[in-house]
Amino acid sequence: MATGTSSGKSLGYVLPALTASLEERGPRQERRAATLYLSPTKALAHDQAENLRALGTGVRISTHDGDSTPEEREWTRDHAEYILTNPDMLHRSLLPTHERWSGFFGSLRYVVIDECHHYRGVFGAHVAAIIRRLRRVCALHGSAPTFILASATVAEPALSAHRLTGVDVSAVTNDASPRGRLAVALWEPPLTELTGEHGAPVRRSSASEVADLLTDLVIDGVRTLAFVRSRQGAERIALATRRLLGEVDPSLAERVAAYRGGYLPEDRRALESSLRSGALLGLAATNALELGIDIAGLDAVIVAGFPGTRAALWQQFGRAGRGTAEALGIFVARDDPLDTYLVHHPEALIGAPVEAAVFDPDNPYVVSPHLCAAAAEAPLTESDFTLFGPQTRQLVEELEHGGWLRRRPRGWFWTDRSRASDLADIRSTGGAPVRLIEAHTGRVLGSVDASAAHTTVHQGALYLHQGDTFYVDEFDADESVAFLTPTDSDNSTSARELVDISIVGEQSHAMWGPARLSLGQVEVTHQVVSYLTKSRTGEVIAEQRLDLPPRHLRTKAVWWTLPEEVIDGFAFDLPGSVHAAEHASIGLLPLFATCDRWDIGGVSTALHPDTGQLTVFVYDGHPGGAGFAERGYSAAASWLQATRALIADCECTEGCPSCIQSPKCGNGNSPLDKSGAIALLDLLLLHAV
Ligand SMILES: [Zn+2]
Ligand SMILES: [Zn+2]
Repeated sequence: MATGTSSGKSLGYVLPALTASLEERGPRQERRAATLYLSPTKALAHDQAENLRALGTGVRISTHDGDSTPEEREWTRDHAEYILTNPDMLHRSLLPTHERWSGFFGSLRYVVIDECHHYRGVFGAHVAAIIRRLRRVCALHGSAPTFILASATVAEPALSAHRLTGVDVSAVTNDASPRGRLAVALWEPPLTELTGEHGAPVRRSSASEVADLLTDLVIDGVRTLAFVRSRQGAERIALATRRLLGEVDPSLAERVAAYRGGYLPEDRRALESSLRSGALLGLAATNALELGIDIAGLDAVIVAGFPGTRAALWQQFGRAGRGTAEALGIFVARDDPLDTYLVHHPEALIGAPVEAAVFDPDNPYVVSPHLCAAAAEAPLTESDFTLFGPQTRQLVEELEHGGWLRRRPRGWFWTDRSRASDLADIRSTGGAPVRLIEAHTGRVLGSVDASAAHTTVHQGALYLHQGDTFYVDEFDADESVAFLTPTDSDNSTSARELVDISIVGEQSHAMWGPARLSLGQVEVTHQVVSYLTKSRTGEVIAEQRLDLPPRHLRTKAVWWTLPEEVIDGFAFDLPGSVHAAEHASIGLLPLFATCDRWDIGGVSTALHPDTGQLTVFVYDGHPGGAGFAERGYSAAASWLQATRALIADCECTEGCPSCIQSPKCGNGNSPLDKSGAIALLDLLLLHAV
C-alpha cells in the first residue's frame, strides 16, 4: 500500500489481520490466526500497539523488543495474536528460537511491514535476507503468510516490495483520502560577504533563514512545524524565532517551542495537543519526530535541508494540511550541491516519482551470514537455494570450505557453539561496529559502522547522535570504541580522506561515442588524513591533521573514461576539471541512488594506470556494495546531466560548497576548475544515451 500520509493505510492492514484473529479463534480461545507487525523503530511499534488496543477488539496484542521482560516474552510467545516487533528482534530472537515459537509461526496469517521505504542500502539487504529466513521458518511450521507492506512514499512499490520479500505482490496506490492543495516553495539562502576555503563565498545559514520564515508565519497565525537536523539547531531556531517575535508582539514569543525525540510520552502528548488546539503556533523539531508521532492539522511545514530522499521530503510536507484546507511546504536549501540543485530544478522534486528503495539483495557480504543463521535454524538443502538468490550455491560452498558450515547427507549444518545470528550485524557493515561511550558516565550511546567510524568519530570530531552533539575525546580503532562528551558547540567537522582505487574487474559497460561508462568491482584504499572544523555560518575555523591507518575496501564502482584524442587541446586545467566534475557528481548521486553523500566516495585522475585514460570513479562505501554504484550506472545519463546543470547554475564564479567544493576532499579542494568541469562534462555527454 503506497498512499499518502494519513490516508488510512493502517486501517488497510490492521482490519484484515484483526478480523482474521477474531473470526478464527477456536472454541477454547486458542490462537488460530496470528499477525506479525514489523516496524523500523521500537517507538513506532509501541505507538501502533496503543492505537490497536484503543480499538477495543479483544485481540491479544503484544510488543516484543529489547524492553520486554522475560514474563512478557513468555506471554507473547504463548498467547499473543498480534505481535509488534522489529527486524532486529526477528533476526536475533524469534527466528533462532523458532521451535519454541512454533505455535505462533504455525498460525501466522499476515506479516505487516510498515514504513517499508526505510529498508534500503545495506540495511535493506539484511532485512530482505531476514524476510527470506522468516518465509522458510513459516514453511517449516506449516504456514505461508500474506505480506502487507505499507509506505506513504515509495516509488515502484511493487518492485521494491518484491525485492524485499521475494514474493509476487500487487500494488495499491489509489489514494482517495480528502486533501487540500499544497503550495510548495523552494528557498535558497543568499550568498553572504563571508568567505570560506580558497575565498569561496558562503551562503547564509539555513537555520537563520528558517527562523525568519517561522517568525513571519507565526505573526500571520499560521501553524507551522520546522524540521531541523539537530536538537541544537531546533533549539537555536526556536530561540531566535522567540527573540524576533518578542520585538513584534511579546505574547507571540511564548507560542513557539522546540521539540526533539526522546521525550516522555506525556510530554509528547501535551505538545501534540497544544499544537492541535492552536495554543502553540510554531514548533522547531528534529527529524526524530518523523516516526511514530501524531502531529497533523498544521498549516505549514518548513524543511531545513534535503532529508535524503524525495520520499522523506513529501512525508514531512505531508504533515501540513487540515482536512481539505490549503497548506504550505517550504524547503530551505543548505550550502551543498544536492540542495542547490534541487532549488534550481523544481522538476526534480515536483512531479518526479519518489525513489525506489535501493538495495542489493544479492550482496554476498550480507547474504553469507544469513545463510549461516538459516542453517542454524534448520539445515540448508538444495531446495533453499532459489529462496536466497542466484549465487546461493556458490556462497554455501564457500562457507563449507571456510569451515563455517558442515555438509552432511541431510544438508548443510551450522555446528559451531556460537550463535550464527551474531555473524550478521544488520544495522552495520564492514567489521565490528564502533561502540560510542559517553566518557564521564560510561553510558553506551550506541554504535557506528566500522566503515563510517574513521570519517565520523575520529578524535576531535563533532558527532550528531539522535539530535544531540558530542565531541569525540578519543577514538581507539583497535578496540573499536570511541569516547564522547556532550557539547553545545554550533560547529561541525568533516574528515578529509585520501583515496586510491584499482579495478578488479569490469562487470558491464556502455559506449557513449568515444567515452566509456563502466560498472565493476574495485579495490579501494582510503585513509583519513585530517579534518576541518566549520562554524555555524560555514566558515572554516581550523584544519587538523589525523594519524589513522589506511583501510582497504572491496566494493563496486561506476566509472567513466575519455580517450586522449577527445581531450587533446582541452582549453582548461585538466586535473582541476576532472576533480571538480567528480566532486559535483558525488554530491548529486544521492538524488538518483537514495544514499547518503557519506555512503559513497570518488577518485578522479587525468590518467589512471588501469584504464590508461582520464577516469572518474564513484564507489560504494560498503563492502560488496549496497547497490548505489549500480544505480549510478543505470541512471548515468540523467545523473551526469544533472551534475553539469548544477555546476553551470551555481551563481559563484570559481566554485563553492554549493557546487564543486567537497567537505571530504583529501586534497583540500585543490585543484578545482569550475568552467573546465562544465566543458569536460559536455565532452562526455555529447553521445550520452
Ligand atoms: Zn558554486
Ligand atoms: Zn577532492
